[in-house]
Amino acid sequence: MIPYSTQDISDEDVDAVCRTLRSAYITQGPSVTIFEDLTKRYVGAQFSVAVNSATSGLIICCRALGVTCGDWVWTVPNTFVATANCALLCGASIDFVDIDEKTYNICVQSLKQKLQASQANGTLPKALIVVHFAGQPADMYAIRDLSKRYGFKIIEDASHALGADYLDSKVGSCDFSDLTVFSFHPVKMITTAEGGMVTTNDKSLYDVLVLLRSHGVTRKAPTDEVWDGAWYYEQSLVGYNFRMSDIQAALGTQQISRLDEFLKTRRDVAQFYFENLSNFPIQLPYQHKYGRSSFHLFPILLENENERKRIYKFLQEVGIGVNVHYIPVHLQPVYKSLGFKKGDFPNAENYYSRTLSIPIHTRLSPEDLSYIVGTISKCF
Ligand SMILES: *Cc1c(COP(=O)(O)O)cnc(C)c1O
Repeated sequence: MIPYSTQDISDEDVDAVCRTLRSAYITQGPSVTIFEDLTKRYVGAQFSVAVNSATSGLIICCRALGVTCGDWVWTVPNTFVATANCALLCGASIDFVDIDEKTYNICVQSLKQKLQASQANGTLPKALIVVHFAGQPADMYAIRDLSKRYGFKIIEDASHALGADYLDSKVGSCDFSDLTVFSFHPVKMITTAEGGMVTTNDKSLYDVLVLLRSHGVTRKAPTDEVWDGAWYYEQSLVGYNFRMSDIQAALGTQQISRLDEFLKTRRDVAQFYFENLSNFPIQLPYQHKYGRSSFHLFPILLENENERKRIYKFLQEVGIGVNVHYIPVHLQPVYKSLGFKKGDFPNAENYYSRTLSIPIHTRLSPEDLSYIVGTISKCF
């Protein structure tokens, strides 16, 4: 079976992990700091906080922004459930903004309209979580303008988009947002098995993120008078254990040094698909000129729901591991129980009924690619 995505771990990556296992630190230690520094330098942000998953990262971002009971958080339905769950876990209410039919990212026009309506009835969001779907950056320039006008904070869920470019910067630079979250799950751009990273340019948010990651506890006393000795620690808020281990960070450090090579391979695969799948009744992923996708996913759109089912089944049967991203979050039973229903976000629902993610990763051979394209062409 050719998987739709898979990790790429080299012998050097394995050696780095083994060296860490034999070192003094295996929990959060010096390797985490090194990985954090490399990541923030790569994306061009001032601060970075490694965590044990993007899900944890999203939770502490909401907490750091003060998201709590009575607040609204908005995101898109076309995402993994974690993007919306973080708001509920903080006690806030969630709402969604439909996606753009062309880019599959948040529709700025819908966002604008929803903000106007919410201003009228006093339900403006405290935070908007923007997803860079498949690795293509959303229209951050326009979204930031709206955030200034309506006073909400922006978290970028960049789980798909490590390495992607937007205008003159990398996603994660936080040039147009307050916080950015990356995922290092094995199917993502680089991996630490489980893991994530938050980047920001806001020192006060950074300080809170660091506290939230580790129980809300600090070893530094606020004044000399309360310093009793080296055992001293002090808890200032209720936090979590969301720490990344040094074992994972050693893998992450290796992986990020290979990121540009991974990006090139994925973009070459995408180019091959663009060149070889354009003559079929398939809508290929539109690429906006203001950015450059990392191509975490390569979603193709088929004519209708039945076509998607038929081709999904056919490709699975011949060993091509296609997948579907995403079932709209508002149609999950837990979100339906909050009052959302079919028809609420028609673009996301229509997109979902027709989409198919075909394999894209760094381990696809030329033979795999010919086989995939050849087999897809036989579907029509
Ligand atoms: C993978 C993913 C997450 C969750 O990442 P984890 O590191 O597995 O917690 C969140 N949002 C999106 C868009 C994702 O693709």
